[in-house]
Amino acid sequence: MSETIAVIGAGQMGNGIAHVFAQGGHPVTMIDVSADALARGRSTIEKNMDRQVKKGTLDAAAKDAALARITGATDVAAVAGASLVVEAATENQALKLKIFGDLDRLADAGAVLATNTSSISITTIAAATKRPADVIGMHFMNPVPVMQLVEVIRGLATSDETTTRVMAWSKALGKVPVEVADFPGFVANRILMPMINEAVFCLMEGVGTPEAIDTVMKLGMNHPMGPLALADLIGLDTCLSILEVLHSGLGDPKYRPCPLLRKYVAAGWLGRKSGRGFYSY
Ligand code: NAD
Repeated sequence: MSETIAVIGAGQMGNGIAHVFAQGGHPVTMIDVSADALARGRSTIEKNMDRQVKKGTLDAAAKDAALARITGATDVAAVAGASLVVEAATENQALKLKIFGDLDRLADAGAVLATNTSSISITTIAAATKRPADVIGMHFMNPVPVMQLVEVIRGLATSDETTTRVMAWSKALGKVPVEVADFPGFVANRILMPMINEAVFCLMEGVGTPEAIDTVMKLGMNHPMGPLALADLIGLDTCLSILEVLHSGLGDPKYRPCPLLRKYVAAGWLGRKSGRGFYSY
């Protein structure tokens, strides 16, 4: 019997993580405070699996079996019975500390408690529990069913056993795990976010239109997506939160979030998920 996985958050990352574990044969409990988010998450998984069936990368019976392995819950107590909990709730430190305090009380002894945070300190999150050796960063990329990388981040107290288990789970999903140390933004967002932020400064200063900026980076640098389209995919609120963590955690003014990014987030222009960001959807 495959180990049960619990995923906290059914947003774009949480439903992707539930998708790949269910497809990998695991019973998955997807937990969100919002029943609407759970329903949307489930229908996104179904749509994405339908696309895989059309492409011939998943057969219809396997799709039905995978969907049947996913159950939803709105109460975090549903983590009981899981060998691995992957937290993929909103990028906010206070929220994650609260969730990990709850997980400390409610998750099985010996369960691995992973966070999909893009930037927040794993060591700080682990300190919200009495079992920091079991806490680790398991940072999937968006869209989860497509992207190969899992950035694996060890906190100060993360055990070798926890790390080994997370590397093994990642490989079993067909992903490539890469271990990095716990510094703000880790590697992926330490490098990606300053580029996205600079693209927003270029837009604010009138150096180019969104289309011009993205076309330069796509055709000139061979990036599959331009930085502004990628920011819209990630979510502008998430980009802003990550830049705040880089700025405060590293203390270098080069990470200051562009005021135009702040303005878009204040307006509720969050990118694809709200229907409008640098582009309209
Ligand atoms: P999202 O806004 O799409 O989804 C967040 C979900 O968390 C929402 O459905 C919300 O209802 C839910 N939530 C909020 N509080 C909760 C709680 N207490 N318990 C359970 N659920 C709760 O955000 P997302 O893009 O899926 O990001 C989630 C996490 O993944 C963040 O930490 C983010 O930094 C990280 N991440 C995002 C990307 C990306 O490209 N968007 C990539 C890698 C990692």
